[in-house]
This record gives sequence, C-alpha cells and structure tokens, in this order.
Amino acid sequence: MVYIDNLAKVRELSTWRVWDEPTPPDNRDAIGFGLVEGKGIGMIARRKILAGELIIAERPVYAQRKTLPQCNAENAVNGIFHLSAVKDLNPTSREAISSLKNSKSGCHPLTGILQTNFLMLDITEEPDPDPANQFVGIFPLLSRANHDCTPNTHYFFNFSSFTGEFRPTRDIPEGAEVTISYTHVLAPRSARQAHLRSCYSFICSCAVCGLDAKKAEASDERRARIHQLVEELTPGSSVQRKPSYDKIKDCLKMVEKERLDVYRAQILFYGGTLLLQQGDVTHFLQWMRRAEEEYLRIEGEASPAYKAVMTT
Ligand SMILES: [Zn+2]
Repeated sequence: MVYIDNLAKVRELSTWRVWDEPTPPDNRDAIGFGLVEGKGIGMIARRKILAGELIIAERPVYAQRKTLPQCNAENAVNGIFHLSAVKDLNPTSREAISSLKNSKSGCHPLTGILQTNFLMLDITEEPDPDPANQFVGIFPLLSRANHDCTPNTHYFFNFSSFTGEFRPTRDIPEGAEVTISYTHVLAPRSARQAHLRSCYSFICSCAVCGLDAKKAEASDERRARIHQLVEELTPGSSVQRKPSYDKIKDCLKMVEKERLDVYRAQILFYGGTLLLQQGDVTHFLQWMRRAEEEYLRIEGEASPAYKAVMTT
C-alpha cells in the first residue's frame, strides 16, 4: 500500500503489526462484474447474498489525507504528484487503480481516477472529526461498486484489521447489482442528483430517482423526516426538541418504506437511549437488543457503534 502523509505518520504506520496479519475471510466468490444497463460495469451477485454476509474485506492499495496541500491545482492537471506516489506500487495494484473509472475532467486521468473512487478510511482508532484529519483510500474491488440512492450494501472501515468491508443491509438476489451510496441519501432527489452530476458526472437513474413527480415528492418527504429525526436524536445535537416513542416508531416505518436499512440501527440505538432517559426501561431494552443485532449485521463485531450499544 502507498500511504501519503508526513514522515512521522508514515513511519508509525509502517510499524503496525496488522500488516503481518491476514485480512478477515470474506465471500468475494459471491460477486462478479458485469454490464449494468445505463451504468457501465457493476458489481453483480453471482448467488443470493444474505444480509450481513461479509462480501469483501480488503486493504487499500493507496491512502492519503482527504485534502493534500501538496496536490495543488497545477499538480492535479499534470498528475506529477500522484504519478510519483503510485510509481513504486506493484504492477497488480497499479493495474487495479488504472482500471477504475475516471469521472473527472480538467485534471490528469490518474488524479481523476483517485478522486472518483476514494472511500473514507481511518488511520486512528477514534476518528478525528476535524476535516483536515480525514483519510481516503482506493480499494481494488470495493472502489468498483456503483451508486444507488437506496443502496443494498453498507461500506464500513474496520480499523482493527485495516480493511474496508462490504455487508448487505438486506438480502441481494442472484443477478442483482451490489450498490453503495456516493451521496447523502436523506437529501431530496434534486440535491442528490445535483451532487452526483457535479462530483461523479452521471445522472442517477435508480428506482427512486425514476419515480413520477408525486411519488418522488412523497419519498423526499419521508427522507426529510428521517433526516430530521436523526438530527433530533443524535447526542449533542443542537436540536432541543426530543421526539416521542410514537414519532420514532413512525420514522422506523419510513425507514422500511424507503428501504434505507442502514439508518435503523442508529435510530434504535439513539431512540432507545432517549426512552431510558424518559424512564421507559422495557422499550429501551427491546430497542437496544435490536440495535445490537442491526449493527452486528451491517458492520460486524469491530463496529464502534456495536461496542457502544453493548456497553450501554
Ligand atoms: Zn438515485
């Protein structure tokens, strides 16, 4: 792996014992790649994949801070910085990078490929909320997954094994595409499409983006309500008004309707904590059990959220 950072941090990473350890066993035989109408090459289920199966666990071949001062506008055009960064990678990893899609114009193809396919990763156990300390990486397989505004798969970075991981949030039938989200799925359709167009140069034609105007408006409304509830429930949120048990239950139904399974765990966890504060121990215990199962399914035992539920 190539890791771009200051010398002290690069030296620190080179001493990690994780590099001598194998990556977790996965089920990558369950996926293949094929043409998806309107999208180009996509990741396809070769058999039915069950929710929670670890489809892929792989280490990045390239990692850097999300924002690099060295990669200025001039270097983005001539590609010198990134060409120099990847020159010592083995041929297989270089080929894995060069075979990825480039959706960027106005910059060197290699810089465009990296910017198109980055996924977030962590180089510290406790992720730093400071945007200057966010990290991104390129993965040979994970970076090839396409977008859907109702994705069936969750991307999780497992810091303890230093692997990016895909787990389906619901069962994926044989022949269906494995998808993740490139944008904020709770944003309205127009905002999602504008973001995807400007950052990834495509017009999303997923099922929910293809809804007629009336149904799309109803979907936007449900997503906005889920977004609002998540804001209200998030610990430390500036929103003072706290939702009732019935409102949270209604919102969980909207999560089902929109098939945004990934939010269920978070709502159950934060909602359950709120119920405990309100003295509702019975529902607190029920929701914590469900949150535990959900986090285990979508992120596995290494998930910080799963560990937080277990210690609550
Ligand atoms: Zn869409």
